[in-house]
Amino acid sequence: MSNCAIVGINWGDEGKGRMVDLLTEKYDVVVRYQGGGNAGHTVINEYGKFALHLIPSGIFRKGVVNILGDGVALDPENLWLEIESIREKGVCITPENLKISNRASLLMPWHRELDALEEQRLADKKYGSTKQGIAPFYSDKYAKKTVMAGELFYPDRLKNHLADLLEWKNLTLVNVYGAKPYTMEMLDMWIKDYCEKIKPFICDTAAFMKDALKKDKKIMFEAQLGSLRDLNCGIYPYTTSSNTTAAFAPVGAGAPGVKIDDIIGVVKAYSTCVGEGPFISELHGDEASDLREAGEEYGAKTGRPRRVGAFDTVATRYGVQVQAATEIALTKLDVLGYMDKIPVCTHYYINEEFTDEFPFPAALAEAKPVIEYMEGWKCDISHIRSWEDLPRNARSYIQFIEEKINCPVTYISVGPERDSIIVRKKEITE
Ligand code: GDP
Repeated sequence: MSNCAIVGINWGDEGKGRMVDLLTEKYDVVVRYQGGGNAGHTVINEYGKFALHLIPSGIFRKGVVNILGDGVALDPENLWLEIESIREKGVCITPENLKISNRASLLMPWHRELDALEEQRLADKKYGSTKQGIAPFYSDKYAKKTVMAGELFYPDRLKNHLADLLEWKNLTLVNVYGAKPYTMEMLDMWIKDYCEKIKPFICDTAAFMKDALKKDKKIMFEAQLGSLRDLNCGIYPYTTSSNTTAAFAPVGAGAPGVKIDDIIGVVKAYSTCVGEGPFISELHGDEASDLREAGEEYGAKTGRPRRVGAFDTVATRYGVQVQAATEIALTKLDVLGYMDKIPVCTHYYINEEFTDEFPFPAALAEAKPVIEYMEGWKCDISHIRSWEDLPRNARSYIQFIEEKINCPVTYISVGPERDSIIVRKKEITE
């Protein structure tokens, strides 16, 4: 067994949380390496149904240590509320099974407000932010204008640091957006109400991981969002503000030297996209509303209806490539059981040419989908647990996808519950 990363191949919401929850059985440590409380990783298990925003999806497994790495946007308020709400359902969360890197930067109270103010200013040109403060947070982190979690252990230094940041941030809040300034009293309350609560979880997670690796413990890296939302490789500017790709995982985790052996790319059996930006294989009208209802496609964090579309082999092959995925977990195959014919986007038509290469973001404005139809299987497959028992048309659909995206599908998820899974590694290697 080896270290692995579980990453999204498309726009996010592929079902990563569900795969992490399933596979953590074989791992010792699970690390979130980027993003923040804008995630909504849905997990259904013996404790109930959860939409995990910041806490890694390994939190339900006894003996697994969950880490929030250096690269996450650590929102003390949302994290504390999330810890409390999960504990209420009988899940044990202590500094033994949840550790926060002392090098993770804190998402400040003004980041969420600035996110909302900027979306309001952009009006019909908005990016479709979840308004969790992620873009303002990462902007400030790279400008070296936020606070590291470990500074909570240095109160005098922290006070001076916060006073400097406060003076600087109020210039933007008041003069650019006409908003109310923050005060030191507000920050003191924030520290008392939230930062002090999460303080016991903060430690040197880099040292912890170094030690764990020495003892041959296995690490799983858990991504948020997908390839097409990666700040560098995604559909900029309709990306998130961090790197969702597996190559960034060891850096964001705070363990830059760790080698990742397996990269499991999670892909949905059709496409969905939350927020704004190009979405070439998008379906409309009844076709879209039928698929949205069948797949219950509403955002786990925001409740927003997700845009839905045909499986996009062009975008997915690109997503596989930038993640350097070694295998694929295909989720929500059961949802397609109602379709007579299943649409698949195989090429884009751009400026009178057909292409199956994912283009530069600006070229997407002109792209039109080329759709082929596969035969549906027209039955419920949610009870099936082996490759052989899948209807022939379902197997053909998976094999068609595999061929197009150039990566083996080793897991097929046929329901949201932990055990609704077909493990196919055996069939592929034989
Ligand atoms: P994540 O952010 O990548 O973890 O994905 P989300 O949790 O946002 O969205 C995935 C949704 O699909 C959740 O509601 C899951 O419970 C659900 N889900 C995951 N796998 C399956 C599956 O195989 N079948 C069905 N019907 N639902 C699934």
